[in-house]
Amino acid sequence: MPQDQLTFQNPVTAFESIEPPKQHQEEPGLDLKLEPQPDRGETSYRGTGRLTGRKALITGGDSGIGGAVAIAFAREGADVAINYLPDEEEDAQVIRKHIEEAGRTAVLIPGDLRDRDFSSELPGKAAKELGGLDILVNNAGKQISVPELGELTDEQVEATFDVNILAMYRVTRAALEHLTPGSSIINTTSVQAYRPSGHLLDYAATKGAINAFTKGLAQQLGPKGIRVNAVAPGPVWTVLQVTDGQPKEKLPKFGKDTYLGRAGQPVELAPAYVFLASPESSFVLGETLNVNGGQPTP
Ligand code: NAD
Ligand code: MG
Repeated sequence: MPQDQLTFQNPVTAFESIEPPKQHQEEPGLDLKLEPQPDRGETSYRGTGRLTGRKALITGGDSGIGGAVAIAFAREGADVAINYLPDEEEDAQVIRKHIEEAGRTAVLIPGDLRDRDFSSELPGKAAKELGGLDILVNNAGKQISVPELGELTDEQVEATFDVNILAMYRVTRAALEHLTPGSSIINTTSVQAYRPSGHLLDYAATKGAINAFTKGLAQQLGPKGIRVNAVAPGPVWTVLQVTDGQPKEKLPKFGKDTYLGRAGQPVELAPAYVFLASPESSFVLGETLNVNGGQPTP
């Protein structure tokens, strides 16, 4: 693991090529129980003041990529509100500690994004507690692997669409009441938008939808000074993979087929979100930043 994200390094060897043991957790799972532990930048991410005084809401900010983004944002100078499911309180408390150790305000707002009232009220609650809102990261996601279309139930398809894309409409719509010119919206999509796996038919379709939503909304909000972009991770070691996101037998080889020969770690995603949130990306909108270990995308 590099000393920090700015240290010159060979990306092939900078992070371990992990071979996770077969394991299972019930959805939504806990980072605290993940084996091996994911690297969310706890000991390495170094802030350089790029988000000084900003106020961010991150859905799924308790763990994995969202957790790494929360740590990075706080170390870059932002106050951070995180949303997560009530069952993830233990993970959320760890992220709270990191935000506060960075000297920033942490706001914890547990709740289910499938609940229409809750998801519509979430940005208002965050803005009230933070004293404003100028960064929204729509990152919460649901991924359940099902080998055959015949076994994919309507209930699962609806739940996946509800969490991954329908809640994104509700949260973003409500956030617009608070976002001012200069604000940034960042949606987490996936390499699955371009290279769908046969066992992720519902999940991959939502990620394609997120890309289209992002590019369309960017046109609407650009003239208002609000930039909308997406980040498309490739295989990243998070608890999503062991809560039925991948078939169990695939876990030991997870991410080995990237051009770096290894899975990504959540900390390697954080700089993409920092870039898109910060004013330095002022001319970047409607873009999907691929952070996937080299898999070609359109
Ligand atoms: P993660 O499990 O750590 O994060 C997902 C989060 O989504 C959970 O922590 C949970 O808080 C939230 N969530 C799920 N259902 C919810 C609900 N009903 N209400 C509120 N919150 C809910 O896993 P992650 O891999 O860090 O996932 C973050 C995002 O990255 C997801 O959108 C995922 O699709 C995307 N992604 C991950 C990978 C990967 O390889 N890990 C690759 C591409 C895209
Ligand atoms: Mg979680």
